[in-house]
Amino acid sequence: MSPTHTAQLMDGTGLARRIVEATATNAAEISQRTGVAPCLATVLVGDDPASVTYVRMKRARCAKAGIRSRHIGLPASTTTAELVDTLTALSHDPQVHGILLQHPVGPGIDERAAFEAIAPEKDVDGVTMHSFGTMSFGLPGFVSCTPGGIMRLLDEYGVELTGKQAVVVGRSPILGKPVGMLLLAQDATVTYCHSRTADLPAIVREADIVVAAVGRPRLIHGQDVKPGAVVIDAGYNPGNVGDVDFDTARTRARLITPVPGGVGPMTIAVLLAQTVEAAAQQCHGLVG
Ligand code: NAP
Repeated sequence: MSPTHTAQLMDGTGLARRIVEATATNAAEISQRTGVAPCLATVLVGDDPASVTYVRMKRARCAKAGIRSRHIGLPASTTTAELVDTLTALSHDPQVHGILLQHPVGPGIDERAAFEAIAPEKDVDGVTMHSFGTMSFGLPGFVSCTPGGIMRLLDEYGVELTGKQAVVVGRSPILGKPVGMLLLAQDATVTYCHSRTADLPAIVREADIVVAAVGRPRLIHGQDVKPGAVVIDAGYNPGNVGDVDFDTARTRARLITPVPGGVGPMTIAVLLAQTVEAAAQQCHGLVG
């Protein structure tokens, strides 16, 4: 790398805009053909300000793409059984094509039990064990949105994955684990790191592709990025800071996602695209 090297930015905002435009066209086509507009149900427990903002943002994007949204706000005192009932009712409601349970749902609720109440054909956020299974087996189904968005970004920038060393830092069921499975499906050699990993920097130094999915500001230092590596920063920490130290990493990486404007917008774009896909599948055969 020359001393003045600067990585190319992976523009998630631009790619997400194009995905949402294509999604809006598909949504309009379904509405016109069947008389039914695709509909996403958003479920929010409590009033955590970040979660409220995320849900508002997702609903606003839905509206722009011609997707209806139905919001169900539940009090923080909601029990697991009550939340499961709500999600089960939405799973059976023919007017609803996709379901988003905003997470984390907060203490006192069994989040996994809640996720599993979402019918697989409406799991447009890709959070159920069914979706993880179909994704891992390469079968039709919905992917977890952030991993799906990351794979689209890699594809958009022509990143070759076959035979490459991919290091995923983080192993959560909705982000780290599934993105590793998607990279594996494209023949990358995948290493997962987590809070118990010994010598994280040494492993990151070997990576052709680094996916940071932790939630620790600037955990990955530029000095540990292999020259020419592709760096995907899914982390989002207070103050618009990612999990990668952007200023130092960009002097060594070939491609890097900015925070914000990298992975974040892609997550919502995939959510909308999968909602319209779900509507297309559920409205198949309907004529308006
Ligand atoms: P999470 O459920 O808290 O998982 C964090 C993972 O990081 C865990 O696997 C944990 O390991 C690992 N970890 C924690 N400290 C570590 C350390 N010092 N070294 C190595 N690994 C460590 O978080 P998440 O839901 O996956 O989210 C991760 C980040 O992505 C957050 O910043 C979140 O805001 C962001 N995010 C962004 C989007 C988006 O749309 N851009 C979407 C979802 C999440 P253990 O398993 O050992 O505990």
